[in-house]
Amino acid sequence: MSERFAGSFTQQEPIPEAGVEAAIRVMRHGRLHRYNTVGGEVAETALLEEEFAAFTGAKYCLAVASGGYAIGCALRAIGIGPGDTVLTNAFTLAPVPGAIAAVGGRPVFVETTEDLVIDLDDLAAKLPGAKALLLSHMRGHICDMDRLMVLCDASGVKVIEDCAHTMGAAWRGVQSGRWGVAGCYSTQTYKHMNSGEGGLLVSDDPDLMARATILSGSYMLYGRHRASPGPDAFEKVKYVTPNVSGRMDNLRAAILRPQLADLPAQCARWNALYKVLEAGLADTPGLKLIPRPAEEAYVASSFQFLLPDWSECRVRAVIARAAARGVELKWFGHAEPTGFTSRHDSWRYAESQSLPQTDRILAGLIDMRLPLTFSTEDAALIARIIRADVSAVHQGEAAPVDMVPSAD
Ligand SMILES: *Cc1c(COP(=O)(O)O)cnc(C)c1O
Repeated sequence: MSERFAGSFTQQEPIPEAGVEAAIRVMRHGRLHRYNTVGGEVAETALLEEEFAAFTGAKYCLAVASGGYAIGCALRAIGIGPGDTVLTNAFTLAPVPGAIAAVGGRPVFVETTEDLVIDLDDLAAKLPGAKALLLSHMRGHICDMDRLMVLCDASGVKVIEDCAHTMGAAWRGVQSGRWGVAGCYSTQTYKHMNSGEGGLLVSDDPDLMARATILSGSYMLYGRHRASPGPDAFEKVKYVTPNVSGRMDNLRAAILRPQLADLPAQCARWNALYKVLEAGLADTPGLKLIPRPAEEAYVASSFQFLLPDWSECRVRAVIARAAARGVELKWFGHAEPTGFTSRHDSWRYAESQSLPQTDRILAGLIDMRLPLTFSTEDAALIARIIRADVSAVHQGEAAPVDMVPSAD
């Protein structure tokens, strides 16, 4: 009998009870704005920054309104402005090229490998003339960071890391977000901590962080930050840095602090789900799993596989069959942007660019969320369903074309 999955791919866990209680305390006293403190009170936001800096090992941390804001703020803080070329992954999410465009930069996309990371040969070719690389660890896949940093350092190109999918992950023991000049994180609902919206920026560079803090809307209250550079760094920048308000508030920080304490345990739970899926899909004819290098300590809050060089109608057939059995697969090959997924060719504010290798990979790239509301039994069931549907279409048992309505 054909099995069905009844869970929801978009349902995250509730906020931990300690976070609910902390949020209620903030609402009861009413001081939600981060600089609204009384007596010797330290704002939840300042405490979160201190704790997140400690978690990543960074000297400084700034909490902001979103992951996209953190990226834009970091770009501005390193001096990216109108006309500057910023390299970024061709395979990423819309807030990434959007942040470059928002500061007037010119996004130039770098090709993607079959392992879903930035292509370092293409990067090397595009580095001359670029001011920065906004490196997106898209879907939690981390490239060879040692080689990437050698290339960028040799060209004098600054690296900002988009760690929306790698909070808690590392390459060769060094956390993502700690390789470049700054690391940017999102605490939007579908990431590794959930405050609805939110972002965090970390760096060891005092000038960058002083500028970022003023940019975020600190007014002259930056002295109330705890994970921030000393007053000297601010003296240099306070008159010349515009306020582009994008602060985090105490309510969100209150919700996030207990989640940060739980993060290592949550990461282990994600990886347990991932390993069950990976084992369940191993050696499925026609399906290619993404290899995970030994240097990479990943946090698998989502799962990807390739149907390499499959025709569009066959890919659609797999998605439709899985959907009919309750398994929600996303396809990055879709010509029209749908839901959260869009492709480089739908970001038309950027110059149109030829990226044949990325296009070929995205045409066969299937993606799935792994919320922690799934059990390992759920993951095993999902793997059985995908395996059966991919096998059926691969072997040509299923009529690929006519039976299938346009997916998504
Ligand atoms: C979610 C996400 C961001 C930032 O998103 P916000 O919604 O602005 O917090 C950045 N990069 C990637 C790859 C993402 O998935």
